[in-house]
Amino acid sequence: MNALPQWLTDTRDTAALAAMLAPASPRSLEALAAESRAMTLRRFGRTMALYAPLYLSNYCSSGCAYCGFASDRKTPRHRLEPEEIRRELAAMRKLGISDVLLLTGERTAAADFDYLHRCVAIAAEEMPRVSVEAFPMSVSEYRRLADCGCTGITIYQETYNRERYEELHRWGPKKDFIDRLETPARALEGGIKSVGLGVLLGLSDPVEDALCLYRHLRHLGRTYWRAGLSLSFPRMRPQTGGYEPPFPVDDQLLARIIFAFRIALPDTELVLSTRESATFRDGMAGLGITRMSVESKTTVGGYCENEEGESEEQREKGQFEISDDRTAREFCAAMRAMNIDPVFKNWEPSYNGASATIHHEREADRSVTPITPEAEPCH
Ligand code: SF4
Repeated sequence: MNALPQWLTDTRDTAALAAMLAPASPRSLEALAAESRAMTLRRFGRTMALYAPLYLSNYCSSGCAYCGFASDRKTPRHRLEPEEIRRELAAMRKLGISDVLLLTGERTAAADFDYLHRCVAIAAEEMPRVSVEAFPMSVSEYRRLADCGCTGITIYQETYNRERYEELHRWGPKKDFIDRLETPARALEGGIKSVGLGVLLGLSDPVEDALCLYRHLRHLGRTYWRAGLSLSFPRMRPQTGGYEPPFPVDDQLLARIIFAFRIALPDTELVLSTRESATFRDGMAGLGITRMSVESKTTVGGYCENEEGESEEQREKGQFEISDDRTAREFCAAMRAMNIDPVFKNWEPSYNGASATIHHEREADRSVTPITPEAEPCH
């Protein structure tokens, strides 16, 4: 077994964060919330960046105990073909979405690098911002993705506790703890501009995991100082297979983690997905979270209508259940009611490098078709 890198076990950096996360912390939740809110306002203003996931495929070669797409689950397997991807992206654009996260399981023959590469190229023709949450890749593979329009990757370590990691990842390539740990650095080395890290809260001691997550992010920030870095705080949700998280995280602890990270990392984008309830997400908006998914589907495709006549058994199950099922329009109305500006797009395609040309050409083609007529897009 390879040794852990020194940066992951170095506790010198994490004393202040550990003090804020300790159960007996002298800082009350209210005091942390007030400081976090002030920092969020100062660095990010009253805005909320929005994105949506698009599941390309639910084929997977790994056996993560906590996932509805693990290779032993009896769920129908499917991947999107190019025309289906274009239809899904068009449906997303109608909702106002212009920032898409493409997802697949671990590498399989049905959904390998070449498939993902083709999907990114299609998405980069349709969307100004494309990122990927898929299997770990080599530096040269990341370079090819960056060249065809991928600007970001999301890769969660799930847990930094190596023993728990070994138990939870029953088989498949994801068993390799160190390979996964090194993946974000390979992506940045390959020219991907931003990386999103996270732990799946509930799998292991949440405070230990949070401290390791912080060290990972700081290590990347020091090594790749130009990189865009973000952190997510996904909590376990019900999924096919019925895995029960052994370390449940309640709302108070999750809020404390979010506030503490905002205070410790004032410039880092903090992300909260539709795994969380509308009430919790609204509560965190403006208090630390600066990016949220909206109107998410966790089945393959899912933005176009379901096939008529499909029985409940035939219907595909999502990777996990979402909790906030508001439409994009409803979500934006809720943000505006709190005086927060929902932002679908706050950059120009030229930021994307190689994909910019493709996107500009497509925008010109579209000159007679309004991009988001139904959704009254926010920006
Ligand atoms: S978490 Fe990812 S790698 Fe693990 S089983 Fe699910 S889809 Fe596959």
